[in-house]
Amino acid sequence: MPDPKGFLTTNRELPQRRPVDIRIQDWREVYEDFAPERIRAQAGRCMDCGIPFCHHGCPLGNLIPEWNDLVRRDDWQAAIERLHATNNFPEFTGRLCPAPCEASCVLGINPEDTSGAVAIKQVEVEIIDRAFSEGWVTPQPPTVRSGRSVAVVGSGPAGLAAAQQLTRAGHDVTVLERADRLGGLLRYGIPEFKMEKRHLDRRLGQMRAEGTRFRTSCDAGADVSAEELRTSYDAVLLAGGATVGRDLPAPGRELAGIHLAMEYLPPSNRVREGDLESTPISADGKRVVIIGGGDTGADCLGTAHRQGATVVHQLEILPAPPEQRDGSTPWPTWPLMMRAGSAHEEGGERIFAVNTERFLGDATGHVRAIALVDVTMVGGRFEKVEGTEWELPCELVLLAMGFTGAEREGLLTDLGVEFDSRGNVARDAGWQTSVPGVFAAGDMGRGQSLIVWAIAEGRAAAAAVDAHLTGHSALPRPVAPATLALR
Ligand SMILES: Cc1cc2nc3c(=O)[nH]c(=O)nc-3n(C[C@H](O)[C@H](O)[C@H](O)COP(=O)(O)OP(=O)(O)OC[C@H]3O[C@@H](n4cnc5c(N)ncnc54)[C@H](O)[C@@H]3O)c2cc1C
Ligand code: SF4
Repeated sequence: MPDPKGFLTTNRELPQRRPVDIRIQDWREVYEDFAPERIRAQAGRCMDCGIPFCHHGCPLGNLIPEWNDLVRRDDWQAAIERLHATNNFPEFTGRLCPAPCEASCVLGINPEDTSGAVAIKQVEVEIIDRAFSEGWVTPQPPTVRSGRSVAVVGSGPAGLAAAQQLTRAGHDVTVLERADRLGGLLRYGIPEFKMEKRHLDRRLGQMRAEGTRFRTSCDAGADVSAEELRTSYDAVLLAGGATVGRDLPAPGRELAGIHLAMEYLPPSNRVREGDLESTPISADGKRVVIIGGGDTGADCLGTAHRQGATVVHQLEILPAPPEQRDGSTPWPTWPLMMRAGSAHEEGGERIFAVNTERFLGDATGHVRAIALVDVTMVGGRFEKVEGTEWELPCELVLLAMGFTGAEREGLLTDLGVEFDSRGNVARDAGWQTSVPGVFAAGDMGRGQSLIVWAIAEGRAAAAAVDAHLTGHSALPRPVAPATLALR
């Protein structure tokens, strides 16, 4: 039974972010600690709704009102059990998820003020951090072994979630990762200030102790052939992500100083890992333009400020969204509205409704400016506003306009998998690709998405692989390949 008056007596509250001038001098996470009694008060705001719309927002089907009430009652150990029942990695989602659950919380129903939702994500991260520090997160190796083997290609959140589920179900699981470290975008895409990598390493330690095997620096399709994968393992799960970055083929693109975001972010993360003294692509002392207004762009923004950029502009072709939920995206759907993450608070200017005409170079072949034009949407297409051309000086341009899909050359071509109309690896309703015994999950099948979807897909695909190997499965299937976000 929840606190019947919690939401009336307590306002939504989140932990403070560390002061900007201090935090941009280091790479640590931006949030201050939050006292346990304050998080219990936040959990006590949950109304335990008859129809908990938060469940519909979350693809994992997290049992949100249950663990909210357990936290309110100070039963943190029971809370982590309920949280782990649906989410392998709450320490990732609790830090990184944009929280569609909060967008669909009944307490955020007021369109004039959507800020009342229960602080679900904060409760989540406090539960798992407490569980780790209390020693409640222990390895759960299987009690019975199936004798069947599975290769998981890719160690992002989808591959890791699937591997953990399948290992615990008793299968011999090997994760093949072509990078030198595990974690996919959690490792080399997302910067340390959003999630310190110690959280990833701690979870990988649990997985190793449970019996999951990992092979890093192993490019499936090259170091292990497609044929070898199919013959050496009883099933293969493809979780290689959607790694092909969207480029901008405007005149001048060949100039030096213009990079895809995923050329820029990984070496910066490698400096933090101690692999490099300094990054070969640094924003230090430069005027930086980031093209693309999403998560990746915000990560470039926070990274550029920490590297010492003199000025940063972030460009977005779409018009500025409204401050509050737009009427076209009513509660409980994911709202179209202005979002300002911690990186935006640290500086930089956002410019909306502009398009890049061309990149301008200096005598040495290095970018010196970007030529822009205002655009407006007419009949669903962007049209240039004549007479609005202008130049924005810069020495570094970062392209953060999303990803077009999975890399086809190599493994996918050699396996002969088919692709869907959006260019992603096609799966049937049981997560199987057009090649028998080969399954696909995460961004590789869904296209560029979110960590919470990758984990949900990894869990559901694991159930399908388990059923393929043994004839049945008791593993949960939170989503189907065709499941869409609440809209
Ligand atoms: C910069 C950036 C920031 C983001 N921030 C957020 C955020 O804050 N919150 C959020 O929810 N989402 C965020 N996202 C999206 C999120 O990271 C992805 O949706 C998620 O990581 C997808 O998981 P995945 O397991 O499908 O693939 P990935 O994380 O991309 O992992 C795929 C892995 O497969 C490996 N691989 C590929 N091919 C092979 C092969 N042939 N052999 C061996 N290994 C292979 C790759 O090296 C990679 O390690 C962000 C994305 C980017 C790019
Ligand atoms: S919708 Fe909000 S208030 Fe209702 S159960 Fe979910 S978290 Fe609690």
